[in-house]
Amino acid sequence: MLILLQQSYSRFFGLTNKLSSQKLKVIILPHSHDDVGWLDTVDEIYLRGPGVKNIISSYINALLENKDRKFVQVEIVYFERWWNEQNVLMQQKVKGLVENGQLSFAAGGLVMNDEATPYYEDIIDQITYGHEFLFKTFNFIPKVGWQIDPFGHSNAQSILSHLFGMEASFYARIDYQDKEQRQKHKELEMIHVPYTTSKQNYPILIHVNYFHYSSPPRFDFDPLRNSGGYVNDQNVQSKADDLNQYFVRQGQSYRGQIITHTLGDDNEWSNSKSYFENMEKVINYINSHPEKYNVVIKFGTPQDYVKEINEYSDEIFYPTKNDDFFPYADKQHCYWTGYFTSKVAFKGFVRYTGRYFQQLKTFVSYQFATKNQDILDLKQPLLKALKELGYALGVSQHHDAVTGTSKDHVTKDYVKILHRDLTTMNKEFHRLLKIVIQKDLDEKNIDQLYQYSYNSTSSECAEVYDNLQINKTILLTVVDTKVNEGDQDIIKIKVPKIPLNIIDTQNKPIQGDVICSNPKDEQDCTLYFNYKIKKGVQYYKIKQGKNNEESSAKIIASETFTNITANTKISLDNGPEFQLQYKYYVASTDNVQPSGAYIFRPSGGAQVYGSIQEVRVFNGTVVTELNIERSNVNTWIRKYKIQDNQYEVETFVDSIAKEQNKGKEVIVIFKSEDIKNQKVFYTDSNGMDLQQRKIGFRETWSLQSNEFVAENYYPINGIIQIKDHASHNVMAVVNDRSQGGSSFNDGEIEIMIHRRMYSDDRRGVAEALNEEEDNPQCKNSAQQNCSKVVGLRQNIIHKLLFFDQEKNPNLARKAQLYLDFQPIKVFAIDSQESFTENLEIQPTQSLLNQIQVVNPNGDAIIKLYLIPREENNEYLLRIHNMQEQSNVKISFPNDISTQETILSGLRQWSEQQKLRFVWKKNEVQDSIYVPLDEVAPQQIKTFVIKI
Ligand SMILES: [Zn+2]
Repeated sequence: MLILLQQSYSRFFGLTNKLSSQKLKVIILPHSHDDVGWLDTVDEIYLRGPGVKNIISSYINALLENKDRKFVQVEIVYFERWWNEQNVLMQQKVKGLVENGQLSFAAGGLVMNDEATPYYEDIIDQITYGHEFLFKTFNFIPKVGWQIDPFGHSNAQSILSHLFGMEASFYARIDYQDKEQRQKHKELEMIHVPYTTSKQNYPILIHVNYFHYSSPPRFDFDPLRNSGGYVNDQNVQSKADDLNQYFVRQGQSYRGQIITHTLGDDNEWSNSKSYFENMEKVINYINSHPEKYNVVIKFGTPQDYVKEINEYSDEIFYPTKNDDFFPYADKQHCYWTGYFTSKVAFKGFVRYTGRYFQQLKTFVSYQFATKNQDILDLKQPLLKALKELGYALGVSQHHDAVTGTSKDHVTKDYVKILHRDLTTMNKEFHRLLKIVIQKDLDEKNIDQLYQYSYNSTSSECAEVYDNLQINKTILLTVVDTKVNEGDQDIIKIKVPKIPLNIIDTQNKPIQGDVICSNPKDEQDCTLYFNYKIKKGVQYYKIKQGKNNEESSAKIIASETFTNITANTKISLDNGPEFQLQYKYYVASTDNVQPSGAYIFRPSGGAQVYGSIQEVRVFNGTVVTELNIERSNVNTWIRKYKIQDNQYEVETFVDSIAKEQNKGKEVIVIFKSEDIKNQKVFYTDSNGMDLQQRKIGFRETWSLQSNEFVAENYYPINGIIQIKDHASHNVMAVVNDRSQGGSSFNDGEIEIMIHRRMYSDDRRGVAEALNEEEDNPQCKNSAQQNCSKVVGLRQNIIHKLLFFDQEKNPNLARKAQLYLDFQPIKVFAIDSQESFTENLEIQPTQSLLNQIQVVNPNGDAIIKLYLIPREENNEYLLRIHNMQEQSNVKISFPNDISTQETILSGLRQWSEQQKLRFVWKKNEVQDSIYVPLDEVAPQQIKTFVIKI
């Protein structure tokens, strides 16, 4: 998205120009910024208007005409599509352009992912897919990142870039106050060495662009904008003077004698020949008059630039930075902290699908490794479905997709693509699962398998719901890939209001609770039961019970509470006490800056949202549930008996009422009186390392405060926590999708959970963030004045945890792991009421199953990912130690060949270390040594394995 700021434009031309004695070398970077969906859908941007399809063809032809021309391609999802449409001759020519360095690729992911709202797993996947295409097609691995449009930058992105083998990255958007300081001190280039829990250094050079990602002012020769007019013999000299002056001024903001500048903008270069020719006239004029000008100019790629400045790395000293670049403000009162939460349903769907996708890849790998021929026959369609779903998820990570900042019809298109590929994926997954079920249970009568999406109510799970009611037996297949075997997790299923009998494969009854706590629908019930984690597949049968008393899962009656207020301290089953409040900010609509899809700008302080109507408690055997019904919000607080010191808090945010066109931004506040955190809190970085945040504070400059609330909001993708400054007591909240949040008062965690407003925030989307849906109440209502649409409603889950950081440092990480790798539940209508007598299910036999990861000091809070590769018997193995403390140890069976690699698996890690660029920078502490077979806390290691 293109937004130029008037103030930064004018600043360049007010400066006096002091000519440098030595010539500046300028490397100009021709590029086109092609959003993967924003104002138009992904397809529309590829095909219509200037069209990415035409843009790529146009610059390729221009490159073929002249060897001095260069171009950098970024969005691989577009490039791969274009490539597949070319004939072999053209493909050969393009390969030549890559080989001779005229065409290069920066970042090289499917999309330029956002950095505040995606989860690290999804970032890794979308970059891996792009890199795999580039490697397979051109034997090319990108060395330079290109994050020129995301609205702030995370530490995790730099860590992952380093792990992908990148040396540098380009940014355009950093906070306006930060940029001013950096420009003054020539610190627009720096070495980013993000804080890591693992105590590993992952340095990467950051280049902050001088003038957004545009062409120099008056040198945009694209028909879309054409600020440059045309260059001819009459005006070439004045054009050359102008450009020379501009670059000399730019040179004053950077160290060294080589600088770089972008040439291009959103959807530019559909007429590349003319763009190049106009620019070449000016460049040739300057280069052929060395006596007159202070610069020499050539076209280059980001990779050329980084390589050239690295050759002078002995002479230039770069500052370092360890913290991240959040939050981002482009001027006073304009904090881009609203998009952390914008479009809550889409954010939830993307996260749900991403989590599911990780487990599927691993499960499928274990199954392939059994070398069962029936399963191997499904390999090609399964790999195809996985890749399609992976691409759909990749596209969703674009910086105007999961951010919630595209137009409404574009968001709907992302959902459509995700849904389509998820449906295909499930079809293939079910074919595989049926083979496994038949092998394990010897049941030939399993026909159709069913699965439900994450936000269903009972009546939407029609097959399970209806069949349980008419006394049919349901076979529940649970797929889990967590390595925490023997530990307990919870199974939750939507069921009708009937007592149930659940049995395991030994035909032993399993105790559960049926809780009907939806105040709007008595029949919307949930079955809860505990299950012991076993990696692979487990089975249960569920059937209607005779009566409540004799059933293994009884309907739990409710007790009504009367004297609860918003300030009442809540504690279930003697668990820790906390307070729960809902409030809202009124969105600003004034001319200075309205709140919108990108920007959060509250008008005044937070006000109470909703009044308590009714409170009920359900005392089950598996769970105790407290339901607090408010006028606008419904809350279910659950304390599971198998979990100490933690609650699950589910919030249903009803349609946000439209009153006088005043937008509302709804927040939840968790409060513990025991914690005095003194304005310090911690938020994760894309789900990875926790970053320390302080109210009103920036680590590398002194913040001039002008929007107290918005400027202290940070993205939360996994965890936000506060710690008592004296004791080690922590209160942490783990969330189920990206949100923004902060901690303004002692003991309080504030999280924004929903937004609805009616003004645009003037950052280009030109649409208010006013999501609506059909009013279900009108469907069956004879009411004349039933409002046909309501504001989008949503169920949101938070896990609330209390722990001693010394004694139990990994508790919040464990909750994060269990939320990510939830058991996958698949249903079937079963003709047999019980399992075959003495049924023995053989564990999946394969070498992959023998890979062990252990934490010598307790439970291993780790993720083990397996990704099947096209090559037979080859897998990518990633291990993420999610712990805050202690290394984990991996052991491979002898018959597996393993090679540690960069994140994509495309190069050996040891080879990458030899290729690393070295920069002269502030001293940083050496990385702590981690043995090959160990993974440090929050570290990710990747291996290519062959069995
Ligand atoms: Zn963009």
